[in-house]
Amino acid sequence: MTEQFFEMLWDCEQCATRGLLAKSQRHCPACGSAQNPEKRYFPEPGKEIEVAGHRYTGADWLCAYCQSPNGASASFCGNCGGPKDGTKEVARVVDKADEPPILAPTSVTPPSGRRGWGRMVAAIAALVAIVVGYSLFSKHDETATVVSRSWVRTIDVERFAAVSESAWCDALPAGAYDVTRFSQQRGTRQVEAGQECKDKRIDKGDGTFVRENECTPRFKDVPVFDMKCNFHVDRWQVQRTEKAAGDAAATPTWPMPQLATTGFLRGLGQERAGPRHETYTVNLAAKEGKQWRCDVLPAVWAALKEQQNVRLEVRGTGGAVCDSLGR
Ligand SMILES: [Zn+2]
Ligand SMILES: [Zn+2]
Repeated sequence: MTEQFFEMLWDCEQCATRGLLAKSQRHCPACGSAQNPEKRYFPEPGKEIEVAGHRYTGADWLCAYCQSPNGASASFCGNCGGPKDGTKEVARVVDKADEPPILAPTSVTPPSGRRGWGRMVAAIAALVAIVVGYSLFSKHDETATVVSRSWVRTIDVERFAAVSESAWCDALPAGAYDVTRFSQQRGTRQVEAGQECKDKRIDKGDGTFVRENECTPRFKDVPVFDMKCNFHVDRWQVQRTEKAAGDAAATPTWPMPQLATTGFLRGLGQERAGPRHETYTVNLAAKEGKQWRCDVLPAVWAALKEQQNVRLEVRGTGGAVCDSLGR
């Protein structure tokens, strides 16, 4: 199959004649001016004119004396007789249909009418930020009275028991049993799904262009399945939390949980004492009826006495800085 060549077009700059043929009309038929190859362009799609029987010999060269284009096989300029030696080829035109659209630069300056409003909004926002910042970060001292103190101590009781879980079958934990398998989507992968093709027009540089069908592969996501496993596994789990609590009159003690025993260290149903937690709370009040509740370190709690006056740091929002009790 022989390649099809089509005429590029050009406009005469001297007499404003438009749509001249770049291959067949090297001079303007109206005024006789030589063609300027920089003014070549592609015709509108659907208005291409074929150059029948065209044999392509190479891109035109640009005459160094009169800037007119000459065929690759010519040794001298058809317009002024200048020699080909040392001349450059004409610049190729890129089809505008192939160029990515140029995004209009977005304006940075707001319309003048809105500028005044923008300043006012900014000023209000700054004021709000100052007020909020002051109430959040400002602190002052208050004299508070210790009203009461209390403590809570807990122990999590763990039981060795069977639990139901599921995981990808390639990541089963040791000791899994009663395993059942099923298929589930684990992810996706890309596969080629046909091609996306479009016509591309290429300037051959001699006043003609050709059309090429350019294809790029198209991809789509397909699900990837894998085996998921449901299983049982024996584990230590928090079964319940035992709690001991009291006020300042009672010395803090740990709860004494009754632990079920099976005679085996890891027998199903065996229980053990797990993590311990303790909280020491001080309730404080000021003359104006303000009240605070603070969790403090055991040493701070032990050093305080009921009805004692203490210095307490208070935030602009009214919350107590409980750490200030130990300082
Ligand atoms: Zn002309
Ligand atoms: Zn010339």
